[in-house]
Amino acid sequence: MIPVQFDYKAPATLDEAVALLASDLDGAKVLAGGHSLIPAMKLRLAQPQLLVDIARIKSLAYIREEGDQILIGATTTHYQLESSDLLQQICPLLPECAKSIGDVQVRNKGTIGGSIAHSDPAGDWPAAVLALDADLVLVGPNGERTVKAENFFVDLLTTDLQPGEILREVRIRKPSGRFGQAYQKVPHPASGFAVVGIAVHLELNDGSCKAAGIGVTGVGVKAYRATAVEAALTGTNLDDNAIAAAVAHVCDGVDPNSDLYASGEYRCHLATVHTRRGIQAAKARVQ
Ligand SMILES: Cc1cc2nc3c(=O)[nH]c(=O)nc-3n(C[C@H](O)[C@H](O)[C@H](O)COP(=O)(O)OP(=O)(O)OC[C@H]3O[C@@H](n4cnc5c(N)ncnc54)[C@H](O)[C@@H]3O)c2cc1C
Repeated sequence: MIPVQFDYKAPATLDEAVALLASDLDGAKVLAGGHSLIPAMKLRLAQPQLLVDIARIKSLAYIREEGDQILIGATTTHYQLESSDLLQQICPLLPECAKSIGDVQVRNKGTIGGSIAHSDPAGDWPAAVLALDADLVLVGPNGERTVKAENFFVDLLTTDLQPGEILREVRIRKPSGRFGQAYQKVPHPASGFAVVGIAVHLELNDGSCKAAGIGVTGVGVKAYRATAVEAALTGTNLDDNAIAAAVAHVCDGVDPNSDLYASGEYRCHLATVHTRRGIQAAKARVQ
């Protein structure tokens, strides 16, 4: 339970952090809240030579509106998202998702950027940013680029982040018109991580579903968008039959995880039930 020896640097700016990472592309790692990385280091699953602590860069933690977008800095903690009055008003899925994460200590230190960059198959934020069709802004030695959340999660604990890149910001189109959202989670009784987590964003036009975003975590090796469910919901009046027909597709094309707690078949059953509940909850909240 003791990590191998490593160096530690706490840069004051993002530019400095990028330069430090570039100085050792193989051995350096970003440290944010440390709530996934430090346990991995203690188990020696990760053995970085240099930790670049970005949690001390004050300008990286923020939640703000800009035009038709919501901008969230990478080191914004789960607790800051959970307790944001602004988000509660304009995008309540985010505080609801944050509230479901771990315990108070984890939420006080853990960051949205760290969770997304880590891409734990049972992490909650990946489901939320997929449902909201977020853009992720990455900065590295070759400058800045933006990646759709849908293209960011590549495999188990693997993302589109390239060596030396830092996830700088999460950008979400501000929901407008008539919309409803919900996060539905079955927490593992021991760890609190999602056995299944379903993030739902619905947009309505009169009585029918104009667009749907469904993000799923816990089921496969990585979080994914349930595009078949989204397509089946779109254009319907979201009655019980339409919802039941749509949620039957939540595990389409996914090889579900199986472990001592939940078989793949049980996970898909949970995903079906909780996608239905999430859609019904989001529909009931449409304003
Ligand atoms: C007891 C416990 C319970 C938990 N329960 C839950 C839960 O219910 N749901 C849940 O989703 N999570 C849970 N977590 C995980 C927690 O949310 C972590 O905070 C999160 O997964 C990682 O965020 P972090 O800021 O701590 O990142 P760190 O641990 O500092 O970093 C994680 C990884 O991401 C990289 N990284 C971090 N930030 C960036 C960045 N901005 N750009 C590029 N790379 C970066 C690091 O190099 C590292 O590889 C739990 C953790 C613990 C210890």
